[in-house]
Amino acid sequence: MTNSASLEDAVRELLSGARDGVVPIAVVGEPVLRTPAAPLTGQLERRTLGALIEVMRATMHDAPGVGLAAPQIGIPLRIAVVEDMYDIGEELARTRRRTPLPFRALVNPLYQAVGEKRVAFYEGCLSVPGYQAVVARAESVRLRCSSVDGVETDEVFHGWPARIVAHETDHLDGTVYVDKAITRSLAANDVYAELWAEPSPSRAAAALDFDLEGM
Ligand code: ZN
Repeated sequence: MTNSASLEDAVRELLSGARDGVVPIAVVGEPVLRTPAAPLTGQLERRTLGALIEVMRATMHDAPGVGLAAPQIGIPLRIAVVEDMYDIGEELARTRRRTPLPFRALVNPLYQAVGEKRVAFYEGCLSVPGYQAVVARAESVRLRCSSVDGVETDEVFHGWPARIVAHETDHLDGTVYVDKAITRSLAANDVYAELWAEPSPSRAAAALDFDLEGM
């Protein structure tokens, strides 16, 4: 699926199989999640690209999740969608700096850390169902990307929005969050919900014996 004709066909076929606008999400073990995605350089017709973004948005909402990268629905292109408008409570929002992130599509995104500060929190991934693990990431990242209309942006994200755009952009490089996670923090969802669903992972670090310092 490297030339434009086959990508256009592949996306159209995927879209035609959508149910209520939603398509299946690839899970770890599928090679598409481990393959660096190709930059979007006009391989898709404008209308197909728009329809793909809508299906990605609906699939993300349905999951539900706060981000989805095109490889997660089997399309090896550097496209992702993000949106985090969930009401999560004040303490969680404050500790994780989880501020609202309105919907947007990221085309050909690239990010780099801004500053030295790193923060570690539990995160999960729609392609790794059933688990969560702690990942240390830059507190702030600079993101350069385009919109679906080719408008280039260059901006800095902080806190949870920075984590979301970094996680999704990593997918486009064939990287899944578990590659960067502290593996001793790995928790099944029901155990996480019962024991560790709190703003900071510090109690989990003490109980599961993993190190939050020096990451
Ligand atoms: Zn993910």
